[in-house]
Amino acid sequence: MTQTRFHFIAAGDDARRAYRELEAAFEDDGLPLAIVELDEKRDLHEISVYAEGDPEAVKAKIAEILQHALPSPLPVEQEILPDIDWVTKSLEGLQPVRSRRFLVHGSHDRTRKRIGDIGIEIDAGQAFGTGHHGTTSGCLDMLWQVARRERPRNALDLGTGSAVLAIALAKIARIPILATDIDPIATKVAAQNVRLNGVEAWVETRCAAGFHDPAFRERGPFGLILANILARPLMKLAPAMALHLAPGGSLILSGILERQRRAIVAAYATQGFRHVSTLPREGWVTLHMKR
Ligand code: SAH
Repeated sequence: MTQTRFHFIAAGDDARRAYRELEAAFEDDGLPLAIVELDEKRDLHEISVYAEGDPEAVKAKIAEILQHALPSPLPVEQEILPDIDWVTKSLEGLQPVRSRRFLVHGSHDRTRKRIGDIGIEIDAGQAFGTGHHGTTSGCLDMLWQVARRERPRNALDLGTGSAVLAIALAKIARIPILATDIDPIATKVAAQNVRLNGVEAWVETRCAAGFHDPAFRERGPFGLILANILARPLMKLAPAMALHLAPGGSLILSGILERQRRAIVAAYATQGFRHVSTLPREGWVTLHMKR
């Protein structure tokens, strides 16, 4: 679909206020926004809103917001961007990623697999988890160590995204894995990837927010739980994690910034978890905890 970029230049607090208000106003529509510093000394910024579909409606909304946010009106320019399938394009540019013996690759890189590699083919553009993010590769590394050492009987991948972690675990452990995501699109992509990788006998995908689904009670408790979400939801989920982890089981958590690590360890300690190890990667940490 054709995209239109609306852009304008503003200075200092005006720029920041305009950006904040546009961000809040377009959050529900999911329109991407950008703020780029043009001149540090003059505190000048260019703000862009990328519209898909009906540009006239977006234009009117921007004008209305700026009228409130700025002391005097600013000219908003409009640019039509060429039609590019960015998802396909970005996937083509992705190089395969290695973590331990795992090789996460797109279908265009199938031939790059070497003897001994455990291939995970991910072509999803709509779900998170191509192995390139520090949190995903940290989890792959950690699950490789934990699963081989502990041989859990079953597992849960909470916030499965592309299902990359569930597929990796199924390939090395061959155990039943419940893979869930709050996002229905991610769950659909996860199910496709599970089939594409031939592990549908081991991985069951479900759309669920947190632990709100009867499947958790039916399939649990779990010997291993993987959750690469973000610090805040992870803190909230701590009591439920304790409930659904089998005695002596392991928890692998990621999506945590280095500075959030202590708060997470403390929140889980109150639920009877002890910290086993931390794996830092690209500013993120992956934690191994046991109970
Ligand atoms: N496991 C993948 C994807 C991580 S991205 C990987 O390691 O690469 C985090 C995923 O968690 C997203 O797909 C998001 O939709 C999902 N998510 C966020 N909050 C959630 C919640 N409360 N319950 C279930 N899934 C959640």
